[in-house]
Amino acid sequence: MIIVMKKGASQEELEEVEKKIIALGYQPHVIHGEIRNVVGAVGDERGKEKLQIIESMPGVENVVPILKPYKLASREVQPDPSEIDIVPGLVIGGKEFVVGAGPCSVESQQQICETAVEVKKAGARMLRGGAFKPRTSPYSFQGMEEEGLKLLVEARELTGLPIVTEVVNPRDVELVAKYADVMQVGARNTQNFALLKMLGQLDKPILLKRGMAVTIQEFLMSAEYILSEGNRRVILCERGIRTFETATRNTLDISAVPVLKQQTHLPVMIDPSHATGHSQLVPSMCYAAAAAGADGLLVEVHPCPEQASSDGPQSLRPADFAAMMTKLRAFAEVAGREMAS
Ligand code: PEP
Ligand code: MN
Repeated sequence: MIIVMKKGASQEELEEVEKKIIALGYQPHVIHGEIRNVVGAVGDERGKEKLQIIESMPGVENVVPILKPYKLASREVQPDPSEIDIVPGLVIGGKEFVVGAGPCSVESQQQICETAVEVKKAGARMLRGGAFKPRTSPYSFQGMEEEGLKLLVEARELTGLPIVTEVVNPRDVELVAKYADVMQVGARNTQNFALLKMLGQLDKPILLKRGMAVTIQEFLMSAEYILSEGNRRVILCERGIRTFETATRNTLDISAVPVLKQQTHLPVMIDPSHATGHSQLVPSMCYAAAAAGADGLLVEVHPCPEQASSDGPQSLRPADFAAMMTKLRAFAEVAGREMAS
């Protein structure tokens, strides 16, 4: 249910409403609006009608059901877009079109530091790099694990770029959170609900990728798992879905951007690298993402793609990434966004 507070309702009235929600067995989530506050009351769908009595409390305008199955992720609860703080001076979902870039996997100090310097020079605002890799084959490179996380920290110290890195296993949440600025949930884990619940208890932004066979509604239900545990900092990332097409590694669902923008206040990024699987196709999908109204990109870049331990064919060389970034600026501007200089 959504409890809409009256314009000018007092803090005490708001607190009384929160207490009542808890007493009725639900969890209150306050969303502070410019004009009025609303409180999302979430919990068991059965019996939610009992929340209706809150309508008679002082300071309450009305109580309305949330129609969508995802509640806290929906625009019904929060009409204004969420602006997610990543680190001081960097927000995703605001005016800035934010690009995160880096290799698929962290491979060595030289590789990650060199890539970080290059992508920063080209205008990237976050450094990506996997230390724990979810590989299709158990015989493929599985990542450098904690040593890789430490190398990411070195690259962050060198460039100031915050780190986005994947956590594959719920067992490693604490370890990865010690190093990462943004915790990435990969496509293979979009519906790993145990992992999502743990991430919901962290005070860190979560970049949630869409699974390759996950509908938009299911994707938002996954986001809801994180939000309902109390973590409001969720960024969605479309990275291509599986279709009958084999010319590309996946099929980039670019229409997911406007659909998600209608349904949710959460920011939406695009990963054009996993979506296409081919570096030559990546720049045009970056431009399409900006034009479609995405909030940013996550792009794979490797100093020497032919030697990459994973995803070389889809990784841009630093020079190609820089050329893409120059051209991207115009698309971002037409879409009403700015890119950091
Ligand atoms: C990655 O970002 O390197 C990755 C494994 O992505 P995805 O989960 O989208 O396949
Ligand atoms: Mn990859």
